[in-house]
Amino acid sequence: MPPPIEIVPLGAAHGRVLAEELAADRDYPPFHRSTRDGFAVRAADVAQVPATLEVLGLARAGSPFNGALSSGFSVEIMTGAPLPEGADAVVMVEYTREIGAVTSEPRGSASGDARVEILRSVQAGDNVVPRGSEALAGSRVLPAGRRLGPGEIGLAAALGHASLRVFARPRVAILPTGDEVVPVDQTPAWFQIRNSNALALAAQVEAAGGLPCLLGIASDRKDALRELIEEGLATDLLVLSGGISVGKFDFVAEILTDLGAEFYVQGVSIRPGKPLAFGQVRDRFFFGLPGNPVSTFVTFELFVRPAITLLGGAGFQSSVFLKARLAKPVRQKTGLSVFMPARVTRDSAGLDPVVELVGWQGSGDLVGLAEANCFLALRPEQTDAAAGDWVDVLPKSW
Ligand code: AMP
Ligand code: MG
Repeated sequence: MPPPIEIVPLGAAHGRVLAEELAADRDYPPFHRSTRDGFAVRAADVAQVPATLEVLGLARAGSPFNGALSSGFSVEIMTGAPLPEGADAVVMVEYTREIGAVTSEPRGSASGDARVEILRSVQAGDNVVPRGSEALAGSRVLPAGRRLGPGEIGLAAALGHASLRVFARPRVAILPTGDEVVPVDQTPAWFQIRNSNALALAAQVEAAGGLPCLLGIASDRKDALRELIEEGLATDLLVLSGGISVGKFDFVAEILTDLGAEFYVQGVSIRPGKPLAFGQVRDRFFFGLPGNPVSTFVTFELFVRPAITLLGGAGFQSSVFLKARLAKPVRQKTGLSVFMPARVTRDSAGLDPVVELVGWQGSGDLVGLAEANCFLALRPEQTDAAAGDWVDVLPKSW
């Protein structure tokens, strides 16, 4: 079922998912547009150069030349201005020499005193974007389901949409669990951990196009956990962190099972993130993410982000991996696909992208995560990757 539809002002539509198709209201560009400052000519008139043409007047962006141009004539033209009727090309000003005075005002007819010498030939169509070449009136330029980035916002503005119909953002409940987890503004005892996951997840949810709902911290007690899980099921998607592994106090799976959950995934062959769970309970999807911050982060990017995209009406989009060359050899014998915080840069010659692991202490290391701008991804069989090897890289996205 598609998400409900909201109408938002264009200025508030960034990151939202379009719920309507946008069509061109007129041709784009709406006129033959000059891409250069210079002189509008008939290409046939300047096949032999130098050629001297009479200058009829001036065409500026916002102030077109009203008149037609016949053989032997030209019109001075500025970038963005409509090509005068009768002209078929623009000669760049660099390849011209003015003879006599060219006034700054458009004139309807030749005054006889302004001429220009054209020093270079042009082909018909040179330095002109033809009317309708970007889009013809009535043609679809944005499909429903498209996420609106700055470019799409600009296009919607060009089409004259002051507001847009967009899909409601899926509400995503974020439920951190753990007796050791305390709110960020509370001073932790030496054995306690601040609740960093909920805030990182909320930011990831927002970046993915969802609306984060922070539920507070569930202790590792069944009744407390059950209560907050049920609260979370009032949203569109429930994302839990922690308590999903095989520890004595990991009750998340048990409680979800009690509530009648169906598990589609319990455990994935990746590191970090192996204990990930995904399923459905009371018509709601849930993810149980492992609690270690880097595990939580990676599993969100790989699995939760595409789910939010789907729930938000933007269709399925799998993670896009890029390629980079390894700066140093990397060994791993996990038998799993591994995702390691890394930095990708250009090599000194500026040619291939190069990826290097950041120093990190494992899946709890937020310092290493913050240092990274991507994850280096190795498949199980890539046990000995050598310096210079092309490897997969998953950019961190936000
Ligand atoms: P768990 O998956 O519940 O076994 O949690 C693994 C580890 O992740 C815990 O020992 C904590 O150090 C850490 N952790 C769990 N929940 C959070 C959280 N909300 N914020 C930060 N770290 C967490
Ligand atoms: Mg725990």
